[in-house]
Amino acid sequence: MKEFLLELIAAEGPLPMDRYMALCLGHPRLGYYMTRDPFGAAGDFTTAPEISQVFGELLGIWCVAAWEAIGSPAPFALVELGPGRGTLMADMLRATAKAEEFQAALQVHLVEMSPVLRQMQAEKLGGRATWHDSIANLPDEPLIFVANEFFDALPVRQIERRGEMFLERCVDARDGALVLAERPVPRLDLAAQGRHELSPVSSAIAQSLGGRVAALGGAGLVIDYGHLASGVGDTVQALKAHKPCGILEHPGSSDLTAHVDFARLAAAFGAGGAEALPGMTQGQFLLAMGLEARAQRLAAQLSGTALQEFMAGVRRLVGDKEMGSLFKVLAVAQTNRGALYPFET
Ligand code: SAH
Repeated sequence: MKEFLLELIAAEGPLPMDRYMALCLGHPRLGYYMTRDPFGAAGDFTTAPEISQVFGELLGIWCVAAWEAIGSPAPFALVELGPGRGTLMADMLRATAKAEEFQAALQVHLVEMSPVLRQMQAEKLGGRATWHDSIANLPDEPLIFVANEFFDALPVRQIERRGEMFLERCVDARDGALVLAERPVPRLDLAAQGRHELSPVSSAIAQSLGGRVAALGGAGLVIDYGHLASGVGDTVQALKAHKPCGILEHPGSSDLTAHVDFARLAAAFGAGGAEALPGMTQGQFLLAMGLEARAQRLAAQLSGTALQEFMAGVRRLVGDKEMGSLFKVLAVAQTNRGALYPFET
């Protein structure tokens, strides 16, 4: 990947941060997600569904309630963006097995770019899913969608406002090494001084999903780490073997992410014609969905180390200073549809 990037920079000049991220993560042959299973102890990072089954179970119950709130459309598409190992979808389907009408009406649609992860998803979900490269190819049906740790994997541009100058952060080459550089760009509508992160890809996806929800009916959840209000600052980070590393250090073999700007995402859903209900933390959401009762039930069947590990996982999902407050949840619905538990209008 590094050789490829050096050649590309020699031919085309410095790469804006979003291009660098997109290539490192999604290059068809060399990209991080295209070549490996990044999750778990042997991988680079762990996600909520991999930590505890309770996460997917509660999301599944939210989906049933949302589906009923929008009038129980049949058929409808149960959509997941970036399904990873397929664990979240498997837990959602298992937890809703008794919601027979919901189960009979749903078709599982997965938006996934990685052939390696598609294979793992197929093994976990059997013949139940259809795969898509892009949301543009989803069926024109009402949809309930979930996206956990999907938007943080989408590339961001980094543009710093310094006085009246606008400088885009790029990746350049010097003496055979990748280095960070800045390049002046035309004035943008960014009021605050400092480094702004913009994700045109995220906005386009949210706008198009919002358009589907508005036109066809539906609802959805976005869960990710990030901030509910837009701000300035550098949040692009790299992880390898569960430890932070430099973003230029291991191109194509470290995970690269940026914090999600939920305010911008909400605006993009709105631009598509849907409504983003005011967000909350993951801890607030999971507790409102009945995490404690569910955890107690599961804990009653466990003992010893299994019980300790289970409780540690649950605490990690909702704990303050852990995923419970770092992660935020945004719900999307048709405009003027009213509240969608536990979200207020
Ligand atoms: N939701 C899962 C995985 C999160 S990791 C979990 O919670 O465990 C990010 C996922 O998004 C991976 O499945 C990755 O392959 C997928 N992905 C990242 N960028 C994508 C893109 N541009 N299009 C489609 N899928 C993408």
